[in-house]
Amino acid sequence: GAKRAGRNRYRFFEPAMTLAAQARMALEMALRPALARSEFELHYQPRVDLRTMRVVGLEALLRWNSADLGRVSPGEFIGIAEETGLIVPIGRWVLEEACGQTRRLIERQGRAIRVSVNVSARQLAQAGFVDEVRDVLARTGLPAACLELELTESALIEDMARTAAMLDELRVLGVKLAVDDFGTGYSGLAYLRRLPIDILKLDRSFVLQDDGRISAFDFVKAFVDMAHALRLSVVAEGVETADVLEFLRAADCDEVQGYLMARPMPLDALEAWLDAATEG
Ligand code: C2E
Ligand code: MG
Ligand code: MG
Ligand code: MG
Repeated sequence: GAKRAGRNRYRFFEPAMTLAAQARMALEMALRPALARSEFELHYQPRVDLRTMRVVGLEALLRWNSADLGRVSPGEFIGIAEETGLIVPIGRWVLEEACGQTRRLIERQGRAIRVSVNVSARQLAQAGFVDEVRDVLARTGLPAACLELELTESALIEDMARTAAMLDELRVLGVKLAVDDFGTGYSGLAYLRRLPIDILKLDRSFVLQDDGRISAFDFVKAFVDMAHALRLSVVAEGVETADVLEFLRAADCDEVQGYLMARPMPLDALEAWLDAATEG
């Protein structure tokens, strides 16, 4: 009613409504219809086996080209999508699109390729999440072993008992489970022993310090050894230089991902890149 409109108008002109808050509101307004307007696209970044340097997987990364705001990076909109709950339908779309596109890519490439999909805590908290994953695999025909879900440490520890049960169900489906951005949060390997995790993705900051220098070798090597003892495979992300690649190879890391190998690309560019990589 009038009273509400009045209050809104008052709020809008209040000095406390900072530019940042207005920008956030504009983002949210543009984000709501984005899915229906088909403004999202997935880019894919290759993940490479450090021993053979062959591409073993791809990470699906969401891209938003907003009709109102232009290109907006995930760093700017994923947080808002999580807060508003919009991440649930958006994440469902990401999962379906990534599985369908990878299934067709596997057919054309004639070999198994695994796709990693980022999953937010909000999605994991949905009661029907495991069913959703099962349904998407059935609909798209992607083998479960070709799907990996990337979960963050904070999402995992939120409700440990419930999460563990859910991850067990996903594991039974044959889906692989990874902890993303490892080293940025709670950083305990101990709690991971209680969860059916297959892969640790080391955050860029794990290997590179704030001053840009490479971390202590003995520390990273000991960490990788410990992860291997727990039967975890170790992936390093954000690899930009040959120095870091050699460091990770010496530390016995399993797989690498980063601009040194390739940037995230649209599907057609990725396919051309894959074809060139196998011919070369
Ligand atoms: P993430 O899952 O840790 O993804 C890796 C990020 O590092 C990506 O940023 C990627 O483009 C970037 N990156 C790759 N190689 C390098 C490198 O060599 N150097 C540097 N400096 N960066 C590199 P992007 O695509 O901007 O995504 C940022 C974050 O947004 C992701 O971090 C992930 O947490 C989130 N995100 C992206 N797509 C999705 C999605 O579909 N769903 C959800 N829930 N989150 C997503
Ligand atoms: Mg990720
Ligand atoms: Mg990451
Ligand atoms: Mg990261």
